[in-house]
Amino acid sequence: MKILVPVKRVLDPYVKVRVKQDQSGVDLANAKMAMNPFCEIAVEQAIRLKEAKQASEIVLVSAGAQQAQETLRTGLAMGADRAILIKSDSVLEPLAVAKLLKAVVEKEDPGLVLMGKQAVDDDNNQTGQMLAALLGWPQGTFISKIEVLDDAIQITREIDGGLETLKLQRPAVLTADLRLCEPRYASLPNIMKAKKKPLDTMTPEDLGVSVEQRLTIQKVEEPPTRQAGIKVSSVAELVEKLQKEAKVL
Ligand code: AMP
Repeated sequence: MKILVPVKRVLDPYVKVRVKQDQSGVDLANAKMAMNPFCEIAVEQAIRLKEAKQASEIVLVSAGAQQAQETLRTGLAMGADRAILIKSDSVLEPLAVAKLLKAVVEKEDPGLVLMGKQAVDDDNNQTGQMLAALLGWPQGTFISKIEVLDDAIQITREIDGGLETLKLQRPAVLTADLRLCEPRYASLPNIMKAKKKPLDTMTPEDLGVSVEQRLTIQKVEEPPTRQAGIKVSSVAELVEKLQKEAKVL
C-alpha cells in the first residue's frame, strides 16, 4: 500500500508571531519556518506503518513556494521515500490545496492519504475533509490510533464524550491528531541520505488546477496584551476585588 502524506510549511510554532504593519497578514519575512506539527505526526505514522510492513512506499507532497522543498527534505530525512513539490507563490486556500491533492492522488493512486488534522498557521482544519469529499473517499478525522486490516482500516477518533472506533474501506483520507504518535528526529546520516532522494516539482497548471483566491482577508490583529497581575494580601481582599472590580462574584 502506497501512502501519500501532504505536508505544509508553516511559521515555526515556537517563534513569536508578528503581524504586518498594514494588518494584511502575518509577517513571514526572515521568520523561522518548520513542518506543521500535525503533518510531522502523519509522516511518523506513515513510517511506522512501513516499518511494520503495512505500507510499501511513502510519498510526501507539499504545495507552496520553492522553500517548501526544505520541509519535504525534512520528511525525507525522517524516512519517507520520495517527494513532490507543487510550486506556487499564490496564497493557497484549503479548497485549492484539496484540488491539487486530488490531482496528485489521481496520478499516484495511493491506498491511503494520511495528513495533519490542521495547519497551525491558519487553523483551517478543512483540507482533509475537502479532499475526501472531492475524491468521494471515506474519511477518518482527528485520529489517535490506526490499525490496517486486509481490505479496510480501523481508526480511533478523539471525540467530546470519549473515543470513537470506525472501520473504513480503503482507499481513505485520514487526518492525524496529537496523540497518534510522537514524531522522531532525523539522524544526521538520514539527513545526508535525504538529499539524494527523488523530489519532483510540478505546478498547479501542470495538474490542471486553478488556485484562484476566493477569500479576502479583511484584517489581522495581534491579541490584546495581557494586563499585569496584582498581589492581594488576604482572602478578604481577594473576594472584595472579585466582587467590586472584576464583578465576577
Ligand atoms: P488545514 O485544512 O489548512 O488546517 O490543513 C490540514 C492539513 O492539510 C495539513 O496538516 C496538511 O496535511 C494539509 N495541507 C494544508 N495545506 C497544505 C499545503 N499547502 N501543502 C500540502 N499539504 C497541505
